[in-house]
Amino acid sequence: MFSKARLITSLFLLLFLSAPFAEAKAFDWQAKRHASRTYVPLDRVKEFYGYSLVTSGRKILLTNKGKVAQKKTITIQFSPGGQEVIMNGVKFIFSFPIIAIGGKYHLCETDFNKILDPVLRPSYIANAKPFDTVIIDPGHGGRDPGCVNSLGTEAGYNLKVAKLLETQLRKLGFKVVMTRDSDRFISLSERVTIANKYRNAIFVSIHFNSIGGAARSQARGIETFTLSPEGVAHYGSSVKASDLRKKTGNQQDSANIALATSVHWNIKKSLADGKKGPGIVIPDRGIRRARFNVLTGVKHPAILIEGGFMSHPEESRHIHKSTYQSTMAKAVCNAIYFYRVTTNPKTKKR
Ligand SMILES: [Zn+2]
Repeated sequence: MFSKARLITSLFLLLFLSAPFAEAKAFDWQAKRHASRTYVPLDRVKEFYGYSLVTSGRKILLTNKGKVAQKKTITIQFSPGGQEVIMNGVKFIFSFPIIAIGGKYHLCETDFNKILDPVLRPSYIANAKPFDTVIIDPGHGGRDPGCVNSLGTEAGYNLKVAKLLETQLRKLGFKVVMTRDSDRFISLSERVTIANKYRNAIFVSIHFNSIGGAARSQARGIETFTLSPEGVAHYGSSVKASDLRKKTGNQQDSANIALATSVHWNIKKSLADGKKGPGIVIPDRGIRRARFNVLTGVKHPAILIEGGFMSHPEESRHIHKSTYQSTMAKAVCNAIYFYRVTTNPKTKKR
């Protein structure tokens, strides 16, 4: 069900170019220490991948344009001093800003190792093992409805999307485990316990967002969360002592970000598609880092999707529609399949 054309328009283009790179460890990175962290110069990153580095106004573009066929082009846009990085149209919130050291722009080693490289070279991710089971976790339920608006509850929408996703995944031959399949309460630790009973699995938690106060009519769009790496804070918080310790979920850091990239990109693209989907250009709030309990405790590659804002007047109406829900489910299913192919190239022929 995946055409070749579709595969090669993905973010994971380097899969097709993956052979000739020098090993990262042997490469002369010319790394520098700054504020107790290690940074690598963007011009060494450029050399490592054989890309070009172009400054365009306030942006720095790292691109393979002109070196590969048009369809395989990758462009990564950095903003000096900022943490938002756009890779082929998908927003990532890096853990540390791009900074100038000695007149050259540098990228923190954590962001190189935990975001940039796994996204560009998913077939190199050691822990991204073949899997046949998808654990779907519809957030909230029972006495915990999650966000509520005049049209419905988050627990209800989460379950609807989860069930649609379950059907889609079974059609592709995946085994599916639901942490809940009815409107009942289940604690966060129970969700983790269920997930960790299985082997060869990935974990996808489904939620919708809400915000109160003045931001209510403004905040909208999709977010995908992955566990903060060691030393990186929970979204919107400052670093605590416990953030410095490795959590169960951190063994999958690279796989987490590759899975998030595939899912986030697919949801965004599918919702914008006016033929197969509802044709909504949904704001991209980016792939972010968080320390939600399920992400911390699950041993499999894991992500948490926030599929739009129930508090936004217009977005709440979209979320309520079955086309929105089914498009989202289909997009996540396609993304999971695609993640499996790109991280385990042997499974391409199935
Ligand atoms: Zn929620």
